[in-house]
Amino acid sequence: MLPPRQPPAVYASPYGPFPMFRPTMAAVPLVLAALACAEPSARPLTLTLTTRASGGEVMQSPSSVARLAPNELGRIPILEYHLIGDKESRWMVERGHFRRQLELLYERGYRPITVAELIDRKITLPAGQSPVVFTFDDASPSQFSYVERNGVLEVDPNSAIGIWLDFHRKHPDWGNKATFCLLPAAAAGHAFFGDKGIEGQKTAWRFRKVKFLADNGFELCGHTLWHANLAKYSDAEVQEQIARGIMAIDSAVPGYRVRTFALPLGVWPKNRALARAGEWRDPRTGLVVRYNFDAVLEVSGGPARSPFDSKFDPLRLPRVEVFGNALEQVLDQLDRTRTRYVSAGESAVVARTRPASSTVVPKR
Ligand SMILES: [Zn+2]
Repeated sequence: MLPPRQPPAVYASPYGPFPMFRPTMAAVPLVLAALACAEPSARPLTLTLTTRASGGEVMQSPSSVARLAPNELGRIPILEYHLIGDKESRWMVERGHFRRQLELLYERGYRPITVAELIDRKITLPAGQSPVVFTFDDASPSQFSYVERNGVLEVDPNSAIGIWLDFHRKHPDWGNKATFCLLPAAAAGHAFFGDKGIEGQKTAWRFRKVKFLADNGFELCGHTLWHANLAKYSDAEVQEQIARGIMAIDSAVPGYRVRTFALPLGVWPKNRALARAGEWRDPRTGLVVRYNFDAVLEVSGGPARSPFDSKFDPLRLPRVEVFGNALEQVLDQLDRTRTRYVSAGESAVVARTRPASSTVVPKR
């Protein structure tokens, strides 16, 4: 039996550094290099439209989406966000920057899909568009907060979900497709987006927030009870941590099937199979809580393979940690190396730009 609530020390300070995360500052360039190496036949692709102005001057326009050739074996970035706030840091994206990132992705022809849609190969984008997966880890108030006005709860427009919903209103083809990897009971407000008045968030609002996400098309994902480093625990404790996280989601959204699990810190349990499936008996009720995920998220590794690539492994999905200019660099790199997934629209066969290094999984 675990202690009832033993949050990791990191959460003692909600907006300080998150030392429990593996420092992967150097990971991005390495990953990009590896990605480029993985596609040795890639040729630089001019993605900007070149138009000749009346004066004969060559103009570059970034609006090149219509010109992109379909490439359904290309890479798909699974973005990993933590805090959205007032400044930039290793774990925080400043909210104005977050808005600009949505804008940038939109203008470059990306549209969001959930992890569940990715693993189901449900990428129903028009030809020329590219999927991007958003994941938000740790359920902080900065991701989803309410403001109370005259007894009515409104989504805080300064929280990540407020910014997202505003963007969705202005761009209806930017769907409510993001995956939230939830902690129900970590300290410092990392408990279904805030409790105990932290950041002005009331404990009573927690389930309502989680249900709001599910009701509006977002995906709910497990992330343990309080961000446990699973390598440190026994098999029984690993299953308890994961199952109690899932049980809490079920309390907020009864019957919800959690299909995706994000490894805290990217750390696997000693018995790796338990990250995917397991069970725990609640000693109070005797009920057995089972979990069986279809997708497991790591914390780094660069853009993911296409689900039409036979080497795609939904039980070990890499992600792109978003901080600083990591997102912008990854997008540039995907275009430069011509390794970006680009939809072929209604095409019944997987469209590719070059012979694949691995087998193609048929679309239907
Ligand atoms: Zn986390």
